[in-house]
Amino acid sequence: MIGDLLTSLNEPQRQAVLYEGPALLLLAGAGSGKTRALTHRVAHLIRERAVPPWRIMAVTFTNKAAAEMRERLELLLGRDKLPWVATFHATCVRILRQEIEHLGYTRDFTIYDDQDQLRQLRDLLKERKITEKELKPRALAAFIDNAKNRGLTPRACLQQGADDPALIELYRLYQQRLKQGNALDFGDLLLLTVQLFEEVAAVRSRWQERFAHLLIDEFQDTNRVQYRLMQLLTGPQTHLCVVGDDDQSIYRWRGAEVTNILGFDRDYAGTRIIRLEQNYRSTRTILEAATAVVEKNSDRRAKTLWTDNPAGEVIHLETLADDLDEARFIATEIGRLQRQGEALRDIAVFYRTNAQSRVLEEALRGRRIPYAMFGGVKFYARQEIKDALCYLRTLVNPADAMAARRIINTPARGIGAATIERIVQLESEAGGFMAACRLVLERKHLGTAAAQRVRGFVELMEDFGQRLVRLPLPQLMADILQDSGYTPLLQEEAQQALTADGRQEAKGRLDNLEQLLTGMEEHTSQGRSVQDYLEQVALMTDLDQHDPAIERVTLMTLHSAKGLEYPLVFITGLEEGLFPHSRSGSGGADLDEERRLCYVGMTRAMRKLYLSHARRRRVYGTWQFNAPSRFLADIPPALLSGYREPSIVPPTTTVTAPNPQSGVHNLAGLADLVATDEMDQSAEVQAPPPPTRSVSATTAADPPTDGGGLRLGARVRHLKFGPGVVRRLEGSGDQQKVTVYFNSVGTKKLLLKFAGLMPG
Ligand code: ATP
Ligand code: MG
Repeated sequence: MIGDLLTSLNEPQRQAVLYEGPALLLLAGAGSGKTRALTHRVAHLIRERAVPPWRIMAVTFTNKAAAEMRERLELLLGRDKLPWVATFHATCVRILRQEIEHLGYTRDFTIYDDQDQLRQLRDLLKERKITEKELKPRALAAFIDNAKNRGLTPRACLQQGADDPALIELYRLYQQRLKQGNALDFGDLLLLTVQLFEEVAAVRSRWQERFAHLLIDEFQDTNRVQYRLMQLLTGPQTHLCVVGDDDQSIYRWRGAEVTNILGFDRDYAGTRIIRLEQNYRSTRTILEAATAVVEKNSDRRAKTLWTDNPAGEVIHLETLADDLDEARFIATEIGRLQRQGEALRDIAVFYRTNAQSRVLEEALRGRRIPYAMFGGVKFYARQEIKDALCYLRTLVNPADAMAARRIINTPARGIGAATIERIVQLESEAGGFMAACRLVLERKHLGTAAAQRVRGFVELMEDFGQRLVRLPLPQLMADILQDSGYTPLLQEEAQQALTADGRQEAKGRLDNLEQLLTGMEEHTSQGRSVQDYLEQVALMTDLDQHDPAIERVTLMTLHSAKGLEYPLVFITGLEEGLFPHSRSGSGGADLDEERRLCYVGMTRAMRKLYLSHARRRRVYGTWQFNAPSRFLADIPPALLSGYREPSIVPPTTTVTAPNPQSGVHNLAGLADLVATDEMDQSAEVQAPPPPTRSVSATTAADPPTDGGGLRLGARVRHLKFGPGVVRRLEGSGDQQKVTVYFNSVGTKKLLLKFAGLMPG
């Protein structure tokens, strides 16, 4: 038996599987088989070393990665021997469902998503009479998330003394509200688990003894609170195995700390470090190009990565006039690939910001190419789905004020803001929103009509509460939607709305609710509870609904592509200001992170990689002109096809220039506009502002030129080094420097005055 677990691995992977010491660090580049080694190590522990599965915990970055690992383990071990494989968040939920009473919450706590969090904060700010101008709810949310990522409770923040006391006070109040509602936000899941282990020694040692092996994938993207959790779960007998690649650290903006992986061996003395150097995923061309990009980072540990795979096709670089052309090119090319017999599920299109997806979607729809998009509004965050789920949440946890407030007047029952305000005022006295509804009636605080409506709502919920125990979940949900008047109202709209759009939208919502019920049926057939269901939904990202067996193209942000692989990959929008994102400014740590993101994107490709950039792009209705991304210039030209000197591409559209002085590239303007887009695939999508009519760019769409007419991308010839391509121009006058990629010797930086360059 041991044969098949080890024969499909190379020597260092085998060592990682067989290592028996207390701490192991697997540090290696993309596609080198880290995840595979980790999975096989788990299988080996169970199969050959007789470690009981329940004594092993494997932590992954996404639920999808967890599902994939479970699938692999099932193949290696069989279904009845599966260990605990989950994300940090799911792990914490599981621990807290058993232990949270130590912290004064009850076990049926609700998990708030980003929307609930924002709503709660908005209410809080309103109560404290703080206007949106003074403090945006999103900014407060960011402050709180940041503190939680660092493992800081409000009290710990105060003790540190680094933050604004007014913000800390709001953080404290917010926590108080959540606790009152017996609710936890995402950050709390980790923060409270850490707090639990720190405060209750008996609980800590019980969990430490339980796990003999703790294994963590994508370790470069752990943040401080996750690292702390790992430390707290590691007892004297626990074996640790962490796996990652510092070159793929792309979540520092969200609090991930790469020092966790780079300093791991300092915290765990005697750590065995194993490096993997063979890449099995990509062609030699793709690997070389990706390495050339990431190598430009200064603060980086050198590493070797090679492959036995063939050189394969050159990377296809496509320069397009604008974003619509780019989308059309991609859709056409996908159509061509399909006709050549490629499967759509083998194709992925990546972009830097969610806003880029719209034109891509339209182009694909235009050609009738099915696609699955990840990172728009999540299914479970859609209005009608949230409404439906909030009914369930209120039934399961009557203290969940966010849920109850959402549905008390949805669909409209004539319960107004003033009435709700009265109820909210009694919330803490009554111990929850539903209890406050009863108290407000008892005390006769409301007028007759309002009281009658609130009583109607309370009775409706009580009635549903009785059905909660009797009915299977899908039946209960269908009843709720019907008897609350929710679906009847939508049905009416679907038939009678004034505009075709309105009717279409109502139909779409009804379809979504149908889909929700189908999902519930699947869940119930596995014999699981309503509580379980809500928990699964709360932790679900739309990436998890991805079914690789279905024939369709994948569309996603570069951030969500981590850990995945596809035979054919398109990376779009390789433009200065967009990718690297303008938020990264002119350099520094943020630019390094963009570069790593580019490395992550490129190394997802197995067989063929397409890179594209548009010379101008519509950003909220305004044209922005972007130079090609500096990352393109880092790729050796020999690995790129379609590389054209940008200056010979004629502009396809003429735009009148209201302000010729504004410079060739309106990067600053783009910076402001693009920066309002969310980087994270899990972020809420905001409706873009209405398009503006003005055109805020100049006619010139070419890359910058120097005074002497030398352009980026120009082909030149040097007496000694031969032909080359201009990669960078810096400085001016006598001090002007030019960086040229020469076919013979690679990149050279020369003082232009003495370089003696001739047109190539
Ligand atoms: P990433 O850094 O992107 O997470 P990784 O290092 O985790 O990558 P894996 O996803 O484990 O790499 O492996 C990449 C690909 O190489 C997978 O398709 C995997 O099945 C294959 N692979 C890994 N090790 C071997 C091996 N020893 N022999 C053959 N194929 C392998
Ligand atoms: Mg991996």
